[in-house]
Amino acid sequence: MSSPATDQSVLFDRELIDRYAISGPRYTSYPTAPQFHEGFGPEDYRAEAARTNRETPDKPLSLYLHVPFCDTVCYYCACNKIVTTDRGRSEPYLDRLFQEIRMLGSLFDGARPVKQLHFGGGTPTYLSDVQLTRLMDVLAENFQLMYTGGEYGIEIDPREITPDTLRILGQRGFNRISLGVQDLDPKVQEAVNRIQPNALNIRAAEYARSSGFESLNVDLIYGLPFQTAEGFLKTLESVLSTLDPDRLAIFNYAHLPQYFTPQRRINDDDLPSPDEKLRILEGTITLLTEAGYLYVGMDHFAKPQDELAVAQRQGVLHRNFQGYTTHAECDLVAMGSTAISEVGDTYAQNVREIEEYYARIDAGELPIFRGLQLTRDDLIRREIIMRLICDFQLDRKVMGERLGVDFSDYFSAETPVIRRQIEEGLLMEEGDLLRVTPGGRLLIRNICMTFDWHLNNKQQTKTFSKTI
Ligand code: SF4
Repeated sequence: MSSPATDQSVLFDRELIDRYAISGPRYTSYPTAPQFHEGFGPEDYRAEAARTNRETPDKPLSLYLHVPFCDTVCYYCACNKIVTTDRGRSEPYLDRLFQEIRMLGSLFDGARPVKQLHFGGGTPTYLSDVQLTRLMDVLAENFQLMYTGGEYGIEIDPREITPDTLRILGQRGFNRISLGVQDLDPKVQEAVNRIQPNALNIRAAEYARSSGFESLNVDLIYGLPFQTAEGFLKTLESVLSTLDPDRLAIFNYAHLPQYFTPQRRINDDDLPSPDEKLRILEGTITLLTEAGYLYVGMDHFAKPQDELAVAQRQGVLHRNFQGYTTHAECDLVAMGSTAISEVGDTYAQNVREIEEYYARIDAGELPIFRGLQLTRDDLIRREIIMRLICDFQLDRKVMGERLGVDFSDYFSAETPVIRRQIEEGLLMEEGDLLRVTPGGRLLIRNICMTFDWHLNNKQQTKTFSKTI
């Protein structure tokens, strides 16, 4: 744990943004997924799972389940999903998912509690109530689920949620819900093929609260066709007054139609200009900070009393493939096509194609196709990047002692870049403490990139989104 961050303010500094607006990773992991390789497979994963049982038997688990189906396609989508109205297609998928749950359940010590559970997709609520109930039963047979006190969350589509579904999930320990809203303007909704009047969002939020869900997150996207600063702020005001979310994730739309087929349905000429997008961002930060929300980090805002904001003040916030979390201490066991696990000192990713996922499971194999065993240098840099991205500060002396290195010697190659970032106002130096300035917070990806050995020393073939 580093010394806690006390100042949680953020500042829109146009000059700094113009200087640092480049492409870069989002650091849901370090090293990032392009460094995973096919030399890492199921046997490596089994060995690491056994090592964690032996060496860290009290370490809780975090489970992630990927449900890849959606009813209709949103044109901005960059997720791994299968769009079909044939709900029957979820049955063969669930059969394989159950088998994977059983395989993974046998790898981990049954006494390790599941402190965190997350259903993502796709659209997890594509599954029927009967299917969700069966899924929870199979999980409970194979893992030590907690019915109270865990952080159990699900992404829902407000267009199709029912009170019964939320009641069932609430009874099974789910207490966090995330609503994909994106924008309330009908013209924007039509342009992205996601028609969702706010009445549906209000209804979903009411169902969730009456089923005992404690925390409501709303996802919005800026940079979509026909958006303007005025229009987006109207959406934001309406979301705050009608949904009163505990957390908001405001994502920057990355238009990459060369990689994501649905985005080809979006007309380039309808997109807001880079300048307009920055006006949206500036207005968003002003509106949310005036409404009392804190900028937790990369795209995320939370009420001061929300667990994420509290964890940040206490220096115990964590970031993984699902975003920010308060559970740093878990091994993340992921299931379903494309899912990525973080167990011990490794990452492991499942195959992306559903047919291949079925074939691997039917052959009795874990469907892992690539991964990474972290080196000592990776572990050191992962810790530095994690603390920066979660705490917005780094005590170089404390961190060096904790990691068993002399900070200035170990990062001598990075020192000139750190100095430049101090001079340019991204960072402040107070003795050994490096603090990210309120203006630097929006550019935290750029600061983390300084410590990314792979990014700075290898040829990259992957295109990352803009850091702002
Ligand atoms: S954005 Fe979400 S709901 Fe829309 S197509 Fe993509 S995964 Fe499905």
